[in-house]
Parts: sequence; structure tokens; C-alpha cells
Amino acid sequence: MKKLIFALIIVLLALNVYAQRCQDVGVKCSECCKNPVSSDNSKICCEEKSCVDRLQTTAIVPLLGNVTFEKLDDEKYVVWYGDSKNVFGKTKFVYAEKLGNKLSYTINNQDYETEISDTSCGFNVLKTTSKKNCIVDRSCDFTLMFVPVDNWLDDQALFENLAKQRADFFQDISLFKEKNFGIIYVPIDYVKKNCDVANIRNDHTGFLTHLKMKNCADSYSDAIGADYDRAVGFSDTFGQGYAFFINKIVFVPRGFDNIDFPSVASHELGHTYWLCDEYSYKEYSRENTEGIVLKCKNKFPDYCKESNDCDGNTPVYREYSQTYLKNVCEGDVKYSVMGPTGGYECGYDKTGGYNAIQ
Ligand SMILES: [Zn+2]
Repeated sequence: MKKLIFALIIVLLALNVYAQRCQDVGVKCSECCKNPVSSDNSKICCEEKSCVDRLQTTAIVPLLGNVTFEKLDDEKYVVWYGDSKNVFGKTKFVYAEKLGNKLSYTINNQDYETEISDTSCGFNVLKTTSKKNCIVDRSCDFTLMFVPVDNWLDDQALFENLAKQRADFFQDISLFKEKNFGIIYVPIDYVKKNCDVANIRNDHTGFLTHLKMKNCADSYSDAIGADYDRAVGFSDTFGQGYAFFINKIVFVPRGFDNIDFPSVASHELGHTYWLCDEYSYKEYSRENTEGIVLKCKNKFPDYCKESNDCDGNTPVYREYSQTYLKNVCEGDVKYSVMGPTGGYECGYDKTGGYNAIQ
């Protein structure tokens, strides 16, 4: 047995000696790879048995951020993705299919098509498109971003699922129903590494707290190369939502009393379009005098007669028409989402609410 191991070691040593590396034949590491993305890459290349051209080009693909495209020896292509700082150092990759001058690949259930063009020493990456997602094409009329705040316990699927319900409801009851509507979900992992939003709930009415959420949304927007129109700091907790009239981002909990209320997001987003609260005349009046130039775009419900306990305008311009959502559009009378959230709210009202959001 010992002899066999000894023999094996000899064979392995011999293989090593005879392996011809780039530096053995006098090629500098920097010249070994024609278009290396990282120093790691040059190193790997030079440790190969022979010089290997790793033809790579980086590009920003919206939704994915920094991506490295690599052409392999056998004319196959690989797309490296994941970390924006050192893509090639990551193990996440997919093979791409080449048809004509287009590479087709699927990442996170999203289909992409990237146009490339050959050059004398490699290839260039041109436009990336996606039939199903306007964010990739940059053709959205409106983009809503969801930032997971507080503590989602790494449950990205739950976060995206609940966020999508809220986005769908908002789109359906507004004029965005007729438009190209994009949704960006910020990964929980990204937030943990780059943002200071783990404790928003406890100070959700603070302007600095909202600034923290906005900084997070802005940095992710830069990282993936896609802009957003409004953002929701979406918390896994229950309680009150909060919005500043002048801000692009709002704070939205799942609901209150431990019950999911999907319409809170539409209520808070309504405030960013200068829609005022319809549940209390006191609140409505305060908000109406907050802006120097801008006044509330919706009217306080006539039937409430300046009451401080009002269900909101009715009827609404358009009731929610998608798949049934729990705690939305309940009861016989449908109220505006700018009223108190409680299950009866079903859309934006006719007194300016619906037209304000477009
Ligand atoms: Zn409100």
C-alpha cells in the first residue's frame, strides 16, 4: 500500500513538472488573458496547463447589476452574476445559448437576451432586453421598488409575495393599470450588507428614518442600474404606516392587529401624490395647510360633514378587479384607500384621488 501511494506521488509530481504554464513559456500573466476582469482571473489563467484565453466583458444588466459575460473555448458562453464587486470571484453562473448575435439565458426565473458583437480580441456587449420585464428594457412608465425593512428572517419569497400583492393592488386601482408597470424587489441579503434599516418600526415617523430607507433604495438603484419612481420600505411588523408628502419612499407595515392589510401601501403611496387622509377632517385640514403651494388633491367626503371619524370617499373610481385579496374590498359599500384601512377600501376616489396618481 505504501508503495502504491509513493508511486502515485511520483506520478503527480511528474505531471506537475511537465505541465506547461503561461509563465513557463515566458508569457506574462497580464498578457495571458486578453481581457481579464480581475487579478484572480489572470492568476487562474496562468496556472492552467497552457495559455487559455478567457474572453470576458462586463456590463450592467438592470435587475442583476454587474454581470460578466465569458466566451469559452468551445464557442459556448457563460454569464457570471451575483456580487457587484467581484463577479468573477463568485460561483454563480449560467450558460447562455447563442443564437445569431444574441445570448439567451435565464436568471432568477427571468429570461434575458443580450446582444453581442465580435471584436478582434474578444467581443462587445450591447443591449440587454427581456420580453417579460420592462425594467430590463428600461421601458417602464412607472417603477415601484420594495425595500425589506425591519426583520424578514431571510424569507425573500414571503417578502416578494406580499410585496407583489401590494404592488398589484396599487397598479390595479390607479391609472397605472393601463401602463408599463415595473417592480423591483431589493434582496434581503443586499439590505443586510449595505443598509441601515433593521430597526425602522420603532421610529417610523422620523424623517431621518425615512432618509435611511431612501439611501438604501438609491444605493440599490445605482447597483443594478435601474431607476425607481416610488419606493416602499416594507416591514414585516404590524402597526401604522407613515409617509411624508415630499418623499419618494414610504413606510408600510404588513397591516395592524396582526392582520394583513394589503391596501396600506396604496394609502401611503397616495400621500406622496398629495392625497390627504379621508378618515378625519382634523387630519385632512392639517395636511391641506402643510404645503405652501400644494393643497390636497382629493376632497374630504361630503357625507362625513367634517366628522372626525369617517370611512372615506365613496364610491371609488375603480374597484380592485384582480384575484381576490383578503382584507380588501369587503362589505357592500366600497371606500377610498385614503380612508382608514380596515378591509372596505377598494380604490382611489373620484374627487381627484384617481387622477392624481398617473
Ligand atoms: Zn394617511
